[in-house]
Amino acid sequence: MDPEYSKYEPVIGLEIHAQMKTISKAFCRCSTDFHSSPNSNVCPVCLGFPGTLPVLNEELVEFIIRMGIALNCKVRDLSIFARKNYFYPDLSKGYQITQFETPICYDGHLDITLKNKEIKKIGITRIHMEEDAGKSIHDFHDDESLIDFNRCGVPLIEIVSEPDIRSSEEAFLYLSKIRQTLIYLDINDGNMEEGSLRCDANISVRVKGSSELGTRTEVKNLNSFKNVSDAIEAEIKRQIDLIESGGKVSYHTMTFNAKDKTTSATRTKEEAHDYRYFPEPDLVKVRVDDNWKKKILSELPEFPDKKRERFMSEFSLPYSDADEITQDKYFADYFENAAGKLIRRESRSYRIVSNILRAEVRRVLNEKKLGINEFNLSGKVIALLADSVASGTVSVTASKEIFNEILDGKDESEQISIFRKSEEKYSQISDTSEIESIVLRILEENPDEVSRYKIGEKKLAGFFVGKIMQASKGKANPKVVNELLLKNLETE
Ligand code: ADP
Ligand code: MG
Ligand code: ZN
Repeated sequence: MDPEYSKYEPVIGLEIHAQMKTISKAFCRCSTDFHSSPNSNVCPVCLGFPGTLPVLNEELVEFIIRMGIALNCKVRDLSIFARKNYFYPDLSKGYQITQFETPICYDGHLDITLKNKEIKKIGITRIHMEEDAGKSIHDFHDDESLIDFNRCGVPLIEIVSEPDIRSSEEAFLYLSKIRQTLIYLDINDGNMEEGSLRCDANISVRVKGSSELGTRTEVKNLNSFKNVSDAIEAEIKRQIDLIESGGKVSYHTMTFNAKDKTTSATRTKEEAHDYRYFPEPDLVKVRVDDNWKKKILSELPEFPDKKRERFMSEFSLPYSDADEITQDKYFADYFENAAGKLIRRESRSYRIVSNILRAEVRRVLNEKKLGINEFNLSGKVIALLADSVASGTVSVTASKEIFNEILDGKDESEQISIFRKSEEKYSQISDTSEIESIVLRILEENPDEVSRYKIGEKKLAGFFVGKIMQASKGKANPKVVNELLLKNLETE
């Protein structure tokens, strides 16, 4: 018999690690650039040579406070760092500098909007600062591993949620909103593939109605939205199956295998005392006074809701357009850049830019699996295209063809020159006599349809319009076509 899954309620808490976009590392001057060659961004401090001293990066503190404010957290006036001791080949220091008892931000919450539009509050337990470890590379050689220390000392913040999440969908919504917030604050690039945003999911199940928490497991290092959802689903099922067959969940660290969508235990989970945490003696306390908090607050960027409202008033976009565009800050920036380059700054043109972005640009990004930041079509050429549609030079149908052609341009100047040629090729014929001659020819070539139309089959009008547009290669002005077609059909 199948286990009764509906008898159980999943309980989930997420730990999210976000790499901060600071220029230099957390405690030294080395660069944080992800694309540098291996072991080139290192120094005695981040490699942990004896006798070196760490110095805290002020930008890191600013960044985490931004996030704390955005997640409605309390910001501690005085916090300290701690050493978390463990041995691992990619951690040459033998310990990681982190915050333990006094995370700088704590006790906040984030609202997510569920599918049924209900708002749900997810508690934020804490956000603290820490440094990343290096990276072991096992798949380069068959029989040996490589180590890249560039990531050693790269600043991270860890955002720990309360166990308030109840399904993989809620986890997805929560993670999306955290990612959106980080990007809007300009402190993290949101790139899960490159690992600058990573997630551990803590999962337990309990019989519905029970108020006690079940024993959790922790699925580590989930590096895509899909893996987060799939891993949670798999782990919920594994735990319920285990309990239903008489077993007991034990406190384990798990890995997720994306190929067969299963979770498996890697080690029994270590407890805080295994790490022998103690206050980091080489760093002074971090003091955040009210003036600093006020300054950071006053410099916070525009958030999605605000931006959506501004787009509605500044560009007269309908709510749904503005909402869609502002979900992604980079997409919103792209829109604003293109809209700013229009010749006709009027609502009709803004709406056309919005349509091109939401339909054509989005389609290409999906097809090519690109982020808007990697998309090289210039905003200027989008504006030219929108102006051309707004002025009636090209039809909406033709604009889609032109869009596909300008994609081939390598840079802005090439894209503009392709645009000029395509615009000429597709510019609409509004000349009545030229269109009328096509209309007459099509009616002549299709006598049967003409007589059927005349005895009442009016929907054939669409058939004629199609033929005429085809004959004009999409260039005939549809409005003129309709007028002339009706005139000739009625009088013939
Ligand atoms: P650790 O570092 O040991 O994993 P943390 O306090 O950093 O501990 O993180 C604990 C995470 O696990 C939090 O997100 C918390 O909400 C979640 N959690 C705690 N207990 C449970 C439970 N019984 N079921 C699911 N999640 C839980
Ligand atoms: Mg944990
Ligand atoms: Zn360094």
